[in-house]
Amino acid sequence: MRYDVITLFPELFGPFMSHGINRRAFASGLVDVRLWNPRDFAEGNYRRVDDRPFGGGPGMVMQAEPLYRCWQAIRADRAEAVPAPTVLFSPLGERLSHPLVAAQAEGPGAILLCGRYEGIDQRFIDACVDRQWSLGDFVLSGGELAALALLDAVARLQPGVLNDEGSHQQDSFSPVLDGLLDCPHYTRPEVWSGPQGEAPVPEVLLSGHHGHIEAWRREQRLLTTAQWRPDLLAAARARGDLSRLDERFLQGHAP
Ligand code: SAH
Repeated sequence: MRYDVITLFPELFGPFMSHGINRRAFASGLVDVRLWNPRDFAEGNYRRVDDRPFGGGPGMVMQAEPLYRCWQAIRADRAEAVPAPTVLFSPLGERLSHPLVAAQAEGPGAILLCGRYEGIDQRFIDACVDRQWSLGDFVLSGGELAALALLDAVARLQPGVLNDEGSHQQDSFSPVLDGLLDCPHYTRPEVWSGPQGEAPVPEVLLSGHHGHIEAWRREQRLLTTAQWRPDLLAAARARGDLSRLDERFLQGHAP
């Protein structure tokens, strides 16, 4: 898949894409990310990309024309019969979520537009933007963090990117585990001397009994989801994803 990112700060992306487990996905081109700076498409000595808002008010607005030229260049370069969508990151957009990321992870990619300043001239949005996505109900100073969040989440879903093939299927929201949250994790030492005294790991995890461990993990997923995201538990129930055993366990552990 290919993502073309329109950003005034392309240098923010490099360090992120060259570290950690996802590095391979980006380096191999499995997730092919190309960075475009609208400033390279602006005219004049100052290569201006922003101007003051009509009607007055604070801040600056990104101008339509440099964005449009940049976008046209990307479209020509992608040369797709069916153009991939152009996505603007914006607080008004659809909230990023696992289903959205999972769909992207299997798609052709997109043109991602990162706003800055007060935002973007609405005429460009009306003419060229197909979708708008938000990182959450708060305001960032630019769309880059939202773009990076998306690229990171998409990259780790690519086959072979996580060391253990299929390990993302054990993660929170995974449909393989009925959209529940992840269970707690423990590692060595077996007993940790913490601020509250000796803290052992749950004994079942040391038992070596695969069936018991899996049953315990299922229970922990159910409990965690009931506690933190009852809406996800309700959704799993509505889909018919909870077994009779699950329900009996939950009843015995009603808060
Ligand atoms: N005036 C706008 C905020 C502009 S912030 C408003 O009040 O809604 C500058 C840019 O940051 C935006 O154009 C957008 O691309 C990005 N941005 C800000 N908050 C965001 C969020 N929650 N999710 C995704 N992108 C966001």
